[in-house]
Amino acid sequence: MEVAQRIKNLPPYLFAEIEKKVNQARAEGKEIIDLGIGDPDIPTPSFIVERLCEEAWRPENHRYPSYQGLDAFREAVVLWYKKRFGVELDPEQEVVSLIGSKEGIAHLPWCLVNPGDLVLASDPGYPVYKIGTMLAGGIPLELPLLAENDFLPDLYSFPDSIWEKVKIVFLNYPNNPTASIAPLSFFEEIVELARRYDFVIAHDLAYSEISYDGYRAPSILEVEGAREVAVEFHSLSKTFNMTGWRIGFAVGNEKVIEALGRVKTNIDSGIFNAIQWAGVEALNRVDEVLKNIIPVYTERRNLVVETFSSLGFDITPPQASFYLWVPVPPGFTSLEFTNYLLDKSQVVVTPGTGFGRYGEGFIRISITTPSPVLEKAMMRIKETWDR
Ligand SMILES: *Cc1c(COP(=O)(O)O)cnc(C)c1O
Repeated sequence: MEVAQRIKNLPPYLFAEIEKKVNQARAEGKEIIDLGIGDPDIPTPSFIVERLCEEAWRPENHRYPSYQGLDAFREAVVLWYKKRFGVELDPEQEVVSLIGSKEGIAHLPWCLVNPGDLVLASDPGYPVYKIGTMLAGGIPLELPLLAENDFLPDLYSFPDSIWEKVKIVFLNYPNNPTASIAPLSFFEEIVELARRYDFVIAHDLAYSEISYDGYRAPSILEVEGAREVAVEFHSLSKTFNMTGWRIGFAVGNEKVIEALGRVKTNIDSGIFNAIQWAGVEALNRVDEVLKNIIPVYTERRNLVVETFSSLGFDITPPQASFYLWVPVPPGFTSLEFTNYLLDKSQVVVTPGTGFGRYGEGFIRISITTPSPVLEKAMMRIKETWDR
Protein backbone atom coordinates (compact mmCIF):
# COMPACT_ATOMS: atom_id res chain seq x y z
CA MET A 1 0.00 0.00 0.00
CA GLU A 2 1.24 3.46 -0.82
CA VAL A 3 -0.10 6.79 0.36
CA ALA A 4 -1.04 9.42 -2.20
CA GLN A 5 1.45 11.89 -3.59
CA ARG A 6 -0.34 14.77 -1.88
CA ILE A 7 0.45 13.20 1.48
CA LYS A 8 4.04 12.49 0.49
CA ASN A 9 4.38 16.12 -0.59
CA LEU A 10 3.59 17.42 2.89
CA PRO A 11 6.64 18.94 4.58
CA PRO A 12 8.38 16.77 7.18
CA TYR A 13 7.42 17.25 10.80
CA LEU A 14 9.97 19.79 11.98
CA PHE A 15 9.60 19.16 15.66
CA ALA A 16 10.29 15.43 15.50
CA GLU A 17 13.92 15.91 16.55
CA ILE A 18 12.99 18.15 19.47
CA GLU A 19 10.22 15.82 20.53
CA LYS A 20 12.68 12.95 20.61
CA LYS A 21 15.05 14.93 22.84
CA VAL A 22 12.20 15.96 25.15
CA ASN A 23 11.01 12.37 25.55
CA GLN A 24 14.56 11.23 26.22
CA ALA A 25 15.09 13.92 28.88
CA ARG A 26 11.78 13.05 30.51
CA ALA A 27 12.75 9.36 30.53
CA GLU A 28 15.93 10.36 32.39
CA GLY A 29 13.69 11.93 35.04
CA LYS A 30 14.30 15.56 34.06
CA GLU A 31 11.46 17.99 34.64
CA ILE A 32 10.84 19.66 31.30
CA ILE A 33 8.82 22.88 31.04
CA ASP A 34 7.03 23.26 27.71
CA LEU A 35 6.62 26.83 26.44
CA GLY A 36 6.24 25.61 22.88
CA ILE A 37 2.51 25.34 22.42
CA GLY A 38 -0.07 28.12 22.20
CA ASP A 39 -2.91 26.50 24.10
CA PRO A 40 -4.43 28.47 27.02
CA ASP A 41 -3.92 26.90 30.45
CA ILE A 42 -6.76 28.94 31.98
CA PRO A 43 -10.02 26.96 31.95
CA THR A 44 -13.02 27.92 29.84
CA PRO A 45 -15.14 30.39 31.88
CA SER A 46 -17.71 28.50 33.93
CA PHE A 47 -20.75 30.31 32.51
CA ILE A 48 -19.83 28.91 29.08
CA VAL A 49 -19.43 25.38 30.44
CA GLU A 50 -22.75 25.69 32.27
CA ARG A 51 -24.54 26.73 29.10
CA LEU A 52 -23.08 23.73 27.28
CA CYS A 53 -24.32 21.39 30.02
CA GLU A 54 -27.84 22.79 29.85
CA GLU A 55 -27.96 22.62 26.08
CA ALA A 56 -26.48 19.13 25.98
CA TRP A 57 -29.65 17.80 27.66
CA ARG A 58 -32.00 19.16 25.04
CA PRO A 59 -32.98 16.50 22.48
CA GLU A 60 -33.38 19.10 19.72
CA ASN A 61 -29.64 19.69 20.00
CA HIS A 62 -28.86 16.01 19.44
CA ARG A 63 -29.75 16.08 15.75
CA TYR A 64 -27.63 17.17 12.79
CA PRO A 65 -26.81 20.87 12.99
CA SER A 66 -27.24 23.11 9.96
CA TYR A 67 -24.00 23.39 8.01
CA GLN A 68 -24.15 27.22 8.06
CA GLY A 69 -24.49 27.29 11.82
CA LEU A 70 -27.44 27.99 14.13
CA ASP A 71 -29.28 31.25 13.39
CA ALA A 72 -28.64 32.31 16.98
CA PHE A 73 -24.90 31.71 16.64
CA ARG A 74 -24.61 33.68 13.40
CA GLU A 75 -26.70 36.47 14.92
CA ALA A 76 -24.42 36.58 17.96
CA VAL A 77 -21.46 36.93 15.58
CA VAL A 78 -23.18 39.80 13.76
CA LEU A 79 -23.96 41.59 17.02
CA TRP A 80 -20.40 41.22 18.24
CA TYR A 81 -18.95 42.46 14.93
CA LYS A 82 -21.15 45.54 15.05
CA LYS A 83 -20.21 46.32 18.62
CA ARG A 84 -16.53 45.47 18.38
CA PHE A 85 -15.58 46.70 14.88
CA GLY A 86 -18.55 48.82 13.77
CA VAL A 87 -18.99 46.43 10.81
CA GLU A 88 -22.51 45.38 9.73
CA LEU A 89 -22.81 41.83 8.44
CA ASP A 90 -25.70 39.91 6.92
CA PRO A 91 -26.15 36.75 9.06
CA GLU A 92 -27.59 34.82 6.10
CA GLN A 93 -24.97 35.61 3.46
CA GLU A 94 -21.83 36.76 5.20
CA VAL A 95 -21.32 34.42 8.16
CA VAL A 96 -20.54 30.71 8.39
CA SER A 97 -19.73 28.69 11.50
CA LEU A 98 -16.58 26.55 11.49
CA ILE A 99 -15.34 23.53 13.44
CA GLY A 100 -12.50 25.72 14.65
CA SER A 101 -11.01 28.32 12.35
CA LYS A 102 -8.31 25.86 11.26
CA GLU A 103 -10.99 23.83 9.53
CA GLY A 104 -12.15 26.83 7.50
CA ILE A 105 -8.61 27.93 6.67
CA ALA A 106 -7.74 24.44 5.42
CA HIS A 107 -10.91 24.28 3.29
CA LEU A 108 -10.66 27.77 1.79
CA PRO A 109 -8.23 26.79 -1.01
CA TRP A 110 -10.72 24.09 -2.10
CA CYS A 111 -13.13 26.93 -2.84
CA LEU A 112 -10.82 29.19 -4.83
CA VAL A 113 -7.77 27.37 -6.16
CA ASN A 114 -7.42 25.42 -9.38
CA PRO A 115 -4.41 23.12 -9.78
CA GLY A 116 -1.29 25.24 -10.31
CA ASP A 117 -2.78 28.49 -8.96
CA LEU A 118 -0.63 30.55 -6.60
CA VAL A 119 -1.41 31.31 -2.97
CA LEU A 120 0.67 33.73 -0.91
CA ALA A 121 1.13 32.72 2.71
CA SER A 122 2.85 34.69 5.47
CA ASP A 123 6.25 33.23 6.34
CA PRO A 124 6.84 32.73 9.22
CA GLY A 125 3.20 31.77 9.60
CA TYR A 126 0.55 29.35 10.74
CA PRO A 127 1.43 26.19 8.77
CA VAL A 128 -2.16 25.47 7.63
CA TYR A 129 -2.07 28.28 5.04
CA LYS A 130 0.58 26.45 3.03
CA ILE A 131 -0.59 22.94 3.71
CA GLY A 132 -4.26 23.65 2.92
CA THR A 133 -3.07 25.13 -0.36
CA MET A 134 -0.95 22.09 -1.21
CA LEU A 135 -3.75 19.64 -0.39
CA ALA A 136 -6.02 21.52 -2.80
CA GLY A 137 -3.41 21.33 -5.58
CA GLY A 138 -2.31 24.97 -5.37
CA ILE A 139 1.22 26.29 -5.14
CA PRO A 140 2.11 28.16 -1.95
CA LEU A 141 4.50 31.10 -2.26
CA GLU A 142 6.15 32.70 0.72
CA LEU A 143 5.19 36.20 1.78
CA PRO A 144 8.23 37.08 3.91
CA LEU A 145 7.60 38.83 7.22
CA LEU A 146 10.86 40.54 8.13
CA ALA A 147 11.93 42.33 11.29
CA GLU A 148 13.07 45.39 9.33
CA ASN A 149 9.50 45.85 8.03
CA ASP A 150 7.92 45.31 11.46
CA PHE A 151 6.86 41.87 10.19
CA LEU A 152 4.50 43.32 7.60
CA PRO A 153 4.95 41.90 4.07
CA ASP A 154 6.42 44.11 1.37
CA LEU A 155 3.51 44.14 -1.06
CA TYR A 156 5.55 45.74 -3.80
CA SER A 157 8.23 43.06 -3.95
CA PHE A 158 6.22 40.88 -6.37
CA PRO A 159 5.92 41.64 -10.09
CA ASP A 160 2.56 41.96 -11.87
CA SER A 161 3.07 38.56 -13.47
CA ILE A 162 2.91 36.93 -10.01
CA TRP A 163 -0.03 38.97 -8.72
CA GLU A 164 -2.00 38.00 -11.81
CA LYS A 165 -1.78 34.31 -10.85
CA VAL A 166 -2.49 34.75 -7.14
CA LYS A 167 -5.86 33.48 -5.91
CA ILE A 168 -5.54 33.92 -2.14
CA VAL A 169 -3.31 35.93 0.20
CA PHE A 170 -3.26 34.66 3.79
CA LEU A 171 -2.59 37.31 6.42
CA ASN A 172 -2.75 37.16 10.20
CA TYR A 173 -2.62 40.22 12.50
CA PRO A 174 -2.16 40.16 15.46
CA ASN A 175 0.37 37.67 14.18
CA ASN A 176 1.35 34.19 15.22
CA PRO A 177 4.30 33.64 15.65
CA THR A 178 5.83 37.16 15.49
CA ALA A 179 3.26 38.88 17.79
CA SER A 180 3.28 41.83 15.37
CA ILE A 181 0.25 43.97 14.54
CA ALA A 182 -0.96 45.72 11.39
CA PRO A 183 -2.37 49.23 11.07
CA LEU A 184 -5.59 49.75 9.14
CA SER A 185 -3.57 51.58 6.45
CA PHE A 186 -1.82 48.28 5.63
CA PHE A 187 -5.20 46.61 5.13
CA GLU A 188 -6.26 49.50 2.88
CA GLU A 189 -3.24 48.88 0.65
CA ILE A 190 -3.81 45.15 0.31
CA VAL A 191 -7.54 45.63 -0.34
CA GLU A 192 -6.65 47.95 -3.20
CA LEU A 193 -4.23 45.36 -4.63
CA ALA A 194 -6.83 42.61 -4.28
CA ARG A 195 -9.35 44.67 -6.22
CA ARG A 196 -6.79 45.42 -8.91
CA TYR A 197 -5.59 41.83 -9.36
CA ASP A 198 -8.76 39.98 -8.37
CA PHE A 199 -7.61 37.78 -5.50
CA VAL A 200 -9.14 36.96 -2.14
CA ILE A 201 -7.61 38.15 1.12
CA ALA A 202 -8.02 35.60 3.89
CA HIS A 203 -7.38 37.42 7.14
CA ASP A 204 -6.90 35.22 10.20
CA LEU A 205 -8.04 37.23 13.23
CA ALA A 206 -7.69 34.48 15.85
CA TYR A 207 -5.93 36.88 18.27
CA SER A 208 -8.22 39.90 17.87
CA GLU A 209 -8.99 40.10 21.57
CA ILE A 210 -5.61 39.20 23.05
CA SER A 211 -3.96 42.59 23.30
CA TYR A 212 -2.26 44.85 25.83
CA ASP A 213 -1.75 48.41 26.97
CA GLY A 214 -5.05 49.54 25.45
CA TYR A 215 -4.30 48.34 21.91
CA ARG A 216 -7.36 47.08 19.96
CA ALA A 217 -6.78 45.14 16.75
CA PRO A 218 -8.81 46.23 13.71
CA SER A 219 -10.84 44.02 11.36
CA ILE A 220 -9.92 44.17 7.67
CA LEU A 221 -13.65 44.58 7.02
CA GLU A 222 -13.42 48.08 8.49
CA VAL A 223 -11.79 49.07 5.18
CA GLU A 224 -14.25 50.40 2.62
CA GLY A 225 -14.93 47.87 -0.11
CA ALA A 226 -13.11 45.10 1.77
CA ARG A 227 -16.04 42.72 1.73
CA GLU A 228 -15.79 42.56 -2.06
CA VAL A 229 -12.39 40.84 -1.73
CA ALA A 230 -11.87 39.65 1.85
CA VAL A 231 -12.95 37.03 4.33
CA GLU A 232 -11.95 37.00 7.96
CA PHE A 233 -11.45 33.92 10.12
CA HIS A 234 -12.18 33.91 13.84
CA SER A 235 -11.75 31.42 16.56
CA LEU A 236 -13.33 31.09 19.97
CA SER A 237 -10.26 29.07 20.98
CA LYS A 238 -7.90 31.84 22.01
CA THR A 239 -10.35 34.46 23.31
CA PHE A 240 -12.35 32.11 25.52
CA ASN A 241 -9.83 29.35 26.35
CA MET A 242 -11.84 26.94 24.19
CA THR A 243 -9.21 25.25 22.02
CA GLY A 244 -10.67 21.80 22.67
CA TRP A 245 -14.25 22.75 21.83
CA ARG A 246 -13.71 23.30 18.10
CA ILE A 247 -15.74 26.36 17.27
CA GLY A 248 -14.93 29.34 15.07
CA PHE A 249 -16.43 31.24 12.17
CA ALA A 250 -15.69 33.06 8.94
CA VAL A 251 -17.26 36.32 7.80
CA GLY A 252 -17.03 38.55 4.76
CA ASN A 253 -17.41 38.14 1.00
CA GLU A 254 -20.67 36.32 0.38
CA LYS A 255 -19.46 34.36 -2.63
CA VAL A 256 -16.54 32.94 -0.67
CA ILE A 257 -18.71 32.26 2.40
CA GLU A 258 -21.21 30.44 0.20
CA ALA A 259 -18.46 28.32 -1.37
CA LEU A 260 -17.01 27.48 2.05
CA GLY A 261 -20.48 26.44 3.18
CA ARG A 262 -20.80 24.24 0.12
CA VAL A 263 -17.51 22.46 0.81
CA LYS A 264 -18.67 21.94 4.38
CA THR A 265 -22.11 20.50 3.49
CA ASN A 266 -20.25 17.91 1.48
CA ILE A 267 -17.60 17.06 4.05
CA ASP A 268 -18.73 17.77 7.60
CA SER A 269 -22.14 18.65 8.96
CA GLY A 270 -21.37 21.54 11.24
CA ILE A 271 -20.80 21.96 14.96
CA PHE A 272 -22.76 20.24 17.77
CA ASN A 273 -25.62 22.65 18.48
CA ALA A 274 -24.98 22.65 22.23
CA ILE A 275 -21.47 23.95 21.57
CA GLN A 276 -22.89 26.66 19.33
CA TRP A 277 -25.25 27.77 22.12
CA ALA A 278 -22.28 27.91 24.47
CA GLY A 279 -20.57 30.00 21.76
CA VAL A 280 -23.54 32.41 21.77
CA GLU A 281 -23.11 32.80 25.53
CA ALA A 282 -19.38 33.42 25.06
CA LEU A 283 -19.79 36.05 22.33
CA ASN A 284 -22.39 37.89 24.38
CA ARG A 285 -20.01 38.17 27.33
CA VAL A 286 -16.60 38.80 25.77
CA ASP A 287 -15.73 41.74 28.01
CA GLU A 288 -16.22 39.78 31.20
CA VAL A 289 -13.81 37.13 29.98
CA LEU A 290 -11.14 39.58 28.85
CA LYS A 291 -11.27 41.42 32.16
CA ASN A 292 -10.01 38.24 33.79
CA ILE A 293 -7.47 36.92 31.30
CA ILE A 294 -5.72 40.02 29.93
CA PRO A 295 -4.15 41.02 33.28
CA VAL A 296 -2.78 37.48 33.63
CA TYR A 297 -1.22 37.50 30.16
CA THR A 298 0.09 41.03 30.67
CA GLU A 299 1.97 39.98 33.78
CA ARG A 300 3.40 36.91 32.06
CA ARG A 301 4.43 38.93 29.02
CA ASN A 302 6.21 41.43 31.25
CA LEU A 303 8.02 38.66 33.08
CA VAL A 304 9.40 37.12 29.87
CA VAL A 305 10.39 40.53 28.49
CA GLU A 306 12.17 41.42 31.75
CA THR A 307 13.99 38.10 31.86
CA PHE A 308 15.34 38.27 28.33
CA SER A 309 16.10 42.00 28.52
CA SER A 310 18.14 41.42 31.66
CA LEU A 311 20.21 38.87 29.71
CA GLY A 312 20.94 41.42 27.00
CA PHE A 313 18.35 40.39 24.39
CA ASP A 314 16.83 43.07 22.20
CA ILE A 315 13.15 42.51 22.89
CA THR A 316 10.19 44.88 23.01
CA PRO A 317 6.91 44.01 24.75
CA PRO A 318 4.42 42.82 22.10
CA GLN A 319 1.09 44.64 21.97
CA ALA A 320 -0.91 41.55 21.14
CA SER A 321 -1.08 37.72 21.03
CA PHE A 322 0.28 35.39 23.68
CA TYR A 323 3.67 34.91 22.08
CA LEU A 324 7.11 36.44 22.37
CA TRP A 325 9.25 36.37 19.26
CA VAL A 326 12.76 36.43 20.63
CA PRO A 327 15.85 37.02 18.45
CA VAL A 328 18.46 34.31 19.03
CA PRO A 329 21.93 35.39 20.19
CA PRO A 330 24.78 35.67 17.66
CA GLY A 331 26.33 32.34 16.78
CA PHE A 332 23.13 30.32 17.11
CA THR A 333 20.55 29.17 14.59
CA SER A 334 16.95 28.97 15.78
CA LEU A 335 17.21 25.24 16.18
CA GLU A 336 20.56 25.42 17.97
CA PHE A 337 19.22 27.96 20.46
CA THR A 338 16.12 25.82 21.00
CA ASN A 339 18.37 22.87 21.78
CA TYR A 340 20.55 25.04 24.03
CA LEU A 341 17.54 26.08 26.15
CA LEU A 342 16.36 22.50 26.31
CA ASP A 343 19.76 21.11 27.35
CA LYS A 344 20.76 23.90 29.75
CA SER A 345 17.44 24.93 31.28
CA GLN A 346 15.08 22.07 30.42
CA VAL A 347 12.76 24.56 28.77
CA VAL A 348 11.06 23.83 25.44
CA VAL A 349 10.48 26.70 23.01
CA THR A 350 9.60 26.64 19.31
CA PRO A 351 12.35 27.38 16.76
CA GLY A 352 11.27 30.14 14.37
CA THR A 353 11.98 27.88 11.41
CA GLY A 354 9.07 25.68 12.51
CA PHE A 355 6.90 28.43 10.96
CA GLY A 356 8.83 28.77 7.70
CA ARG A 357 12.34 29.61 6.60
CA TYR A 358 11.95 33.34 7.30
CA GLY A 359 11.53 32.40 10.94
CA GLU A 360 15.29 31.75 11.11
CA GLY A 361 16.96 33.85 13.78
CA PHE A 362 14.07 33.70 16.25
CA ILE A 363 12.40 31.47 18.79
CA ARG A 364 8.77 31.66 19.89
CA ILE A 365 7.86 31.55 23.56
CA SER A 366 4.24 30.96 24.47
CA ILE A 367 2.82 32.33 27.73
CA THR A 368 -0.07 29.89 28.01
CA THR A 369 1.52 28.12 30.97
CA PRO A 370 0.49 28.61 34.63
CA SER A 371 2.32 31.65 36.03
CA PRO A 372 4.32 29.73 38.70
CA VAL A 373 5.60 27.35 36.02
CA LEU A 374 6.50 30.20 33.71
CA GLU A 375 8.32 31.90 36.60
CA LYS A 376 10.28 28.73 37.21
CA ALA A 377 11.21 28.50 33.53
CA MET A 378 12.43 32.11 33.46
CA MET A 379 14.40 31.57 36.66
CA ARG A 380 16.12 28.53 35.17
CA ILE A 381 16.99 30.39 31.97
CA LYS A 382 18.48 33.25 34.00
CA GLU A 383 20.48 30.93 36.23
CA THR A 384 21.89 28.75 33.49
CA TRP A 385 22.68 31.52 31.00
CA ASP A 386 26.42 31.44 30.29
CA ARG A 387 27.04 33.85 27.41
C1 LIG B 1 -4.69 28.88 17.10
C2 LIG B 1 -4.74 29.47 15.76
C3 LIG B 1 -5.79 29.18 14.88
C4 LIG B 1 -6.73 28.02 15.05
O1 LIG B 1 -7.71 28.12 15.90
P1 LIG B 1 -8.85 27.03 16.00
O2 LIG B 1 -10.09 27.85 15.93
O3 LIG B 1 -8.64 26.38 17.31
O4 LIG B 1 -8.77 26.08 14.85
C5 LIG B 1 -5.83 29.82 13.66
N1 LIG B 1 -4.89 30.70 13.33
C6 LIG B 1 -3.87 31.00 14.13
C7 LIG B 1 -2.85 31.97 13.67
C8 LIG B 1 -3.75 30.38 15.36
O5 LIG B 1 -2.70 30.64 16.13
